[in-house]
Parts: sequence; structure tokens; C-alpha cells
Amino acid sequence: MIKNIGVIGAGQMGGGIAHICALAGHDVTLVDIADEPLAKGLKAIERNLERQVSRERISAADKDAALARITTGVGLGKLKDADLVIEAATENEEVKRQILIELCPHLGPDAIIASNTSSISITRLAAATDRPGRFMGMHFMNPVPVMKLVELIRGIVTEPEVFDAVRELTISLGKTPTSAEDFPAFIVNRILMPMLNEAIYTLYEGVGSVEAIDTGLKLGANHPMGPLELADFIGLDTCLAIMQVLYEGLADSKYRPCPLLVKYVEAGWLGRKTGRGFYDYSGDTPVPTR
Ligand code: NAD
Repeated sequence: MIKNIGVIGAGQMGGGIAHICALAGHDVTLVDIADEPLAKGLKAIERNLERQVSRERISAADKDAALARITTGVGLGKLKDADLVIEAATENEEVKRQILIELCPHLGPDAIIASNTSSISITRLAAATDRPGRFMGMHFMNPVPVMKLVELIRGIVTEPEVFDAVRELTISLGKTPTSAEDFPAFIVNRILMPMLNEAIYTLYEGVGSVEAIDTGLKLGANHPMGPLELADFIGLDTCLAIMQVLYEGLADSKYRPCPLLVKYVEAGWLGRKTGRGFYDYSGDTPVPTR
């Protein structure tokens, strides 16, 4: 039975995961590297719960109860009672490996670890733990409280009972699970990211402006968000990290990250989360930057 859930990383994804787990009645411990991201993460959770109250999806009492179930703190030792730890830290293999190495000695022997990675090999991450059989991928979509899908990824040594327990939990959180094999970027991002990268190439090569590209895909392909808007929403650092995993993992030049994407990340223009990417978010409405 999964009751206590630990979440590592209080960014856009970790916050969303903590939000839905607490709303479903789990005790959640959310950890990050410092107090500042935790305070920011908790504020976002509160704001998103409040939005659900104002849309009458949940009651004010549900919101209060969910917030009361979330504890935050710095340090992985805070996760010692977790039945399941969901790692949602920055998309960087070395960062994730270090977290897993440090985390394992704190956990009970039966605890399950899941990574929310968008692209990194589950089998390789599992090898950094003391329990590769009790490790798998649990890939939530952004924004977590809204998006229905959770992609479940079995590493080569993931035990069937672990996969089933996480699948059951996913359904109990009101989400729809799909399974993907452990190949670079799994299913959703294997298909989505090259499209976003191609949209950035179209901008880079001057085929169209930010507005023309996004309007083209919104009205021409019926996408709810344009690809550049979506890349900003995901985070350009995350997009670049996923393209690098595809490029290196599949050794195919068709996945090469667009140099403009690399430049934006180098400039610290990471999209919505830093206030600037392909759009400038400093005003009331986003303004295209090219
Ligand atoms: P983010 O930048 O919003 O948040 C990452 C958080 O991890 C930050 O608060 C950072 O302080 C924290 N962190 C970094 N190192 C840490 C450590 N050693 N210990 C604890 N916390 C640490 O990123 P995000 O968009 O929330 O992405 C997190 C994960 O979710 C990544 O693996 C990403 O690929 C995946 N993901 C992202 C999306 C998306 O649309 N952004 C969708 C699905 C999955």
C-alpha cells in the first residue's frame, strides 16, 4: 500500500505531483535543495488549488486538507518514511544519479523509487540505486493537475509487482496510465520534442516569425498551443536536455538540437519560468521576441 509519498524537486512538475497526491489523500513530503524553491513551489500549489476551488472542481475544505498533508523540507533524510519517492529534479543525469545515491540509505527496504524524467534511461538511473527492481519511470505531463496522462516506463529489471503498484496508484490519482519501453524519451517526447525542435529551426532559418509559426500550428493543425509557446511552457532547458538525450541515445543527426535553442538556454532564457523565452512574459500578455 502506498500511503506516504516523497517528492524530490519543488519545480513545476514536483509541485504538481505533490498537489495531486495530497488531494488524493496521501501524506506528501516535498524536498528541494533550499528553502526558496520550496516556498515558491508551495505558493504555486496553493494558487493552483485555489483555482480548482474557484472553478468548483474541489471544495475549500479539500484544498485546506490537501495543503495540510504536504510537508516541505531540505534534505533527502526527510523522505525516510516514504513508501514511494517520485524524483522530479532538474533534467540532468548526473544530478539525478547523485540524488539517487544519496537517497537510498535513508529509505526502508520496500520503498519504491520512480523518476519523472522526460528522457533519461530508466535502466541506467536504476543502476545508481540499491534497488533496481523497485525503480521505474513515472512520467507526468505538465501541468500535472490538468493533464490526464502518466507514461509508465519499465526498466529492464523493474519487478512486475512494482510496476503494478505504481499503475494502480496512477489510476487512483485520476490519471490514465500508458506503458512505454525504456528507450530515449519514451513515447510522448520522442514524438513531441523533434517537432518543437523543428519549429525552432523554422524560426532560426527565418522561415517565419514566432507568431507565424505558432498561429500556423494552432490554426493549421488544430494544436491547442503553438510549438514555441509550448517549448516556453515546458522550459527550454528541459527541451534542450531531452533533444541531447535523443541525439546521443539514438545516434542519429536528425535529432540535433537547434543552435538557437542552445543559445537561448545559454542566455538563461528558459521560457515562462524565467520570464523570457520565445515570448517575453513581463507584461500582462506574452509578447513574441522574434
Ligand atoms: P524545474 O526547473 O521547474 O524544477 C526542478 C527543481 O528541481 C528545482 O526546484 C530545483 O531546485 C530542484 N532540484 C535540482 N537539484 C536538486 C537536488 N539535488 N535535490 C532536490 N531538488 C533539486 O523543472 P521541471 O519542469 O519541474 O522538471 C523536473 C523534471 O520533470 C525533469 O526531469 C523534467 O524532464 C521532468 N518533466 C518536465 C516536464 C515539463 O513540461 N516541464 C514534463 C514532464 C516531465
